[in-house]
Amino acid sequence: MKKGIIFIISGFSGAGKGTVLKEVFKTVDNLGFSVSATSRQPREGEIHGQHYLFLTKEQFEAAIERGEFAEHALTFGNYYGTLKSEVEKNISAGKDMVFDINFVGAENMKKAYPDAVTVFIAPPSMSVLKERLIGRGSETEESLKKRLAEAEKEAKKIAEYDYILVNDKVDECASNLVSIIKAERAKRVRNLEFVNKLLEEIEK
Ligand code: 5GP
Repeated sequence: MKKGIIFIISGFSGAGKGTVLKEVFKTVDNLGFSVSATSRQPREGEIHGQHYLFLTKEQFEAAIERGEFAEHALTFGNYYGTLKSEVEKNISAGKDMVFDINFVGAENMKKAYPDAVTVFIAPPSMSVLKERLIGRGSETEESLKKRLAEAEKEAKKIAEYDYILVNDKVDECASNLVSIIKAERAKRVRNLEFVNKLLEEIEK
């Protein structure tokens, strides 16, 4: 069975990644979203098991001890992590998966899964990012500062991603991401089994 593709999507917190991904899921088939675990508090409207698995710090640390994470990172004082089970069950079932993870997670996932495709979604400028974060209304002055400082760290890693998209207009950015997904699906290395089947037919 053909394995699913791992699409790692990173972007500064507030770059509009979530909105872009929502658009992408409306148009692409056989694409799942990997639900991460986190020790942060749920935001308004966030659902356990859909947006995140919300764990306490103690529960999270116990899961790290048990070796349940493919990768994890401490960001804004909270843990975020990808459960190995989330990766394995979907990828081995042939489902392509989107992982919304930060640059630390992206680096570690790429080490564990070298075939993973990494995409960075950037805002048109750092000042637009600040405006969007303020507009979201969920940040205190303290957390806004933390998120902007994190963005500066993350910016230094952008050049390591396979693809870089600018989220100026959501529709355009989403459509570019859809193109990347389709192009990756069509890559020669991911379709050798199919090619071999065609060749076998000719030889019969
Ligand atoms: P937020 O608190 O805004 O939902 O997410 C904050 C940051 O954590 C984002 O950059 C997001 O990509 C990252 N993040 C979410 N889930 C994971 C994960 O499983 N692993 C890692 N390393 N980062 C994650």
